[in-house]
Amino acid sequence: MTDVQNNLQSVLKNIPQNIKLVAVSKFHPAQSVIEAIEAGQNLFGENRVQEAAQKFDEIREKGYNPELHIIGSLQRNKVKEAVRIASMIESVDRTELLDEIEKQCAKINKTIQILFEIHTGEESKSGFESKDALEAALKNFEKGMYPHIQIKGFMTMAPLTQDEALIRKSFKTLKNLQSQIQKEYPAYDFGELSMGMSGDYKIAIEEGSTMVRIGTAIFGARDYSK
Ligand SMILES: *Cc1c(COP(=O)(O)O)cnc(C)c1O
Repeated sequence: MTDVQNNLQSVLKNIPQNIKLVAVSKFHPAQSVIEAIEAGQNLFGENRVQEAAQKFDEIREKGYNPELHIIGSLQRNKVKEAVRIASMIESVDRTELLDEIEKQCAKINKTIQILFEIHTGEESKSGFESKDALEAALKNFEKGMYPHIQIKGFMTMAPLTQDEALIRKSFKTLKNLQSQIQKEYPAYDFGELSMGMSGDYKIAIEEGSTMVRIGTAIFGARDYSK
């Protein structure tokens, strides 16, 4: 077994079967992704569209068929490429983005899944800031503006801190928002809660995560100079 495969096994031991693992392969090469695929992992996350497109086109050309989520903040001019390569965009942080996602999905006749990214911690910069902002987006769904977009739930990043109470608070905020919104908008399914990364996924699972996004603990440290 390779390091990636060993790490993957160790991480999987800590994650209950019913929780999805998104293996975050940003900054790591196609070869590392293939090692994970060969060990049984089929779902990956990337936060930069261009890097993801190159890497996953290469992997798919080799005959593998992994599923990909975009998890990083997305510029409008990258949406076309993002919807081509991904099955889900976890980082929808503003209504304007939904307009572009709908437009690009309509062109290729594809339905894409999304999560609403919510700003719950001090340090993360992206995400809907308030319930009002989120509800403006939901009103557009109710008007039928997004036939090619399927809502699946919410995503958040906890603050990067050692303070476990702050991390927990951030996850609880997301869980509470989910319960409220699900009650107010019963026509949609907000069941997925994407929360938890290498440093905090055990806490996230305790707080109700259904999907964890783990990079470093599987692929090792990232080399940002590349
Ligand atoms: C990079 C990244 C992760 C994974 O972080 P690790 O600490 O390496 O596990 C998870 N979520 C998002 C949004 C990321 O950008």
